[in-house]
Amino acid sequence: RSNAEKFEFQAEVSRLMDIIINSLYSNKDIFLRELISNASDAIDKIRFLSLTDKEILGEGDTAKLEIQIKLDKEKKIISIRDRGIGMTKEDLIKNLGTIAKSGTSAFVEKMQTSGDLNLIGQFGVGFYSVYLVADYVEVISKHNDDKQYVWESKADGAFAISEDTWNEPLGRGTEIRLHLRDEAGEYLEESKLKELVKRYSEFINFPIYLWASKEVDVEVPADEDESSEEEESSEKTSTEEEGEDEDSEKKSKTKTVKETTYEWELLNDVKAIWLRNPKEVTEEEYSKFYHSLAKDFSDEKPLAWSHFSAEGDVEFKALLFVPPKAPHDLYESYYNSNKSNLKLYVRRVFISDEFDELLPKYLNFLKGLVDSDTLPLNVSREMLQQHGSLKTIKKKLIRKALDMIRKLAEEDPDESNDKDKKGMVTKSDGKLTSLDQYISRMKSGQKDIFYITGTSKEQLEKSPFIERLKKKNYEVILFTDPVDEYLMQYLMDYEDKKFQNVSKEGLKLGKDSKAKELKESFKDLTKWWKSALSFDNVDDVKVSNRLDDTPCVVVTSKYGWSANMEKIMQSQTL
Ligand code: ADP
Ligand code: MG
Repeated sequence: RSNAEKFEFQAEVSRLMDIIINSLYSNKDIFLRELISNASDAIDKIRFLSLTDKEILGEGDTAKLEIQIKLDKEKKIISIRDRGIGMTKEDLIKNLGTIAKSGTSAFVEKMQTSGDLNLIGQFGVGFYSVYLVADYVEVISKHNDDKQYVWESKADGAFAISEDTWNEPLGRGTEIRLHLRDEAGEYLEESKLKELVKRYSEFINFPIYLWASKEVDVEVPADEDESSEEEESSEKTSTEEEGEDEDSEKKSKTKTVKETTYEWELLNDVKAIWLRNPKEVTEEEYSKFYHSLAKDFSDEKPLAWSHFSAEGDVEFKALLFVPPKAPHDLYESYYNSNKSNLKLYVRRVFISDEFDELLPKYLNFLKGLVDSDTLPLNVSREMLQQHGSLKTIKKKLIRKALDMIRKLAEEDPDESNDKDKKGMVTKSDGKLTSLDQYISRMKSGQKDIFYITGTSKEQLEKSPFIERLKKKNYEVILFTDPVDEYLMQYLMDYEDKKFQNVSKEGLKLGKDSKAKELKESFKDLTKWWKSALSFDNVDDVKVSNRLDDTPCVVVTSKYGWSANMEKIMQSQTL
């Protein structure tokens, strides 16, 4: 096209597209739910803006908040259209090709090891899944602030953008046209699309329509040519005999034929699961809803959920989930943002999933939503953010979230966790234990909670650091998950008992009458040893109270990283 401008995909995006195109992944279905999810996000955005500016929606069809799917069997095209916010020319350039998101490289990396393409939506690159089924894609888009543009690409490292002077004007929104590969012909079957929408997009909050064929009976005049002379003569006979008038005779000269017509068929029923009575929602429905909410289409069920409503001054309904696995960006979202993974709705209208402080940072791994009847609808996000009710909502959410997690912990931990991986205690018979149980078993006179961190239970059980403790029958918690190391930087005490890493200096094991004496008698040796190693290599040399068979051990300083943490940090520096 003469007015087309060419762009190259950002390198990571290009790699991602190569992976998708060459993928042998058999479940190509996922493209549809990614496109529907994008359409739904785009409608959410325009609906939110329309709360404070009615005009923005436009008039007539343009104002309809719905998603439409059309098939062209001859040209092998599927198009998916929404009347959402649309994209300006600049949006098209940035969002579909030149700006890589943090998830882009994370996803590429994942796909090179043990990746499941199914998770693409969670990494924020779901759009590119269109190339699982299409070899040429057009994105036609109209944003209120710009003209209508066409983005197009054959996934050959480049895309083109042109001002749209040939397609029908969209009013506002986006139409995505997938020119299907030969082997993707099944997606031109209406029944296939209906099945996919039912399976993956059941919980989309806007109506999804398919331009579907329908066989109808039509009365048509009986064809003149077909009516033979015989028929005519027999009719004449009957008229003569029964004396019917000519009009009714004409009426009987019609026949019924099957004709194929097309009409918009609604594929989903737009219901909000959180408004239903929890007693009437099945486990499977919660599970499916979680998958669609979290864009987590693994087969795993959420670990736990809590569905409740609050009444009184501040009314809201909420649904919280503990995901089956830690999200891929757990640390990133903890350190770099205050955003929780909760979606905020006000009276069924989606407001934002970027609301700070609906939950404290440490609960950022939860997924879910809050729908409030108390918050005002027609104010800006900033105003809402400061609304007094939010504090009350937050308080209740925290309480319910902690209840849910506590219940999860009370269930037999060995049943719900992988026994060989998580923290364990030397005395608990190889089973997981709670801190309360640990405290109940503490020796008299023991002040601290002892623990050690490392990579496996076997390794830690042999560690010289716990020789003496074992002999003296002290219990030591074995932390074997990398996250434990991070946790212990923040967790200083529990129930007034301090945590003591037994591989760090400062270990105190009750009163030891001989300690002072030993220290004195080895004074010359420790002094000499320290000078022999020099200050650069060690801080101090001391008589140890933690060894039994092993002659010596290197202990880390109280405030520095443990050796295990050093190892974790090293593995993260590429
Ligand atoms: P995500 O949806 O997680 O942001 P995608 O790869 O699915 O990632 O989409 C990339 C971006 O492209 C979206 O964030 C959005 O800005 C834009 N986009 C995609 N589809 C649409 C659409 N139908 N309407 C408006 N913008 C869209
Ligand atoms: Mg998406």
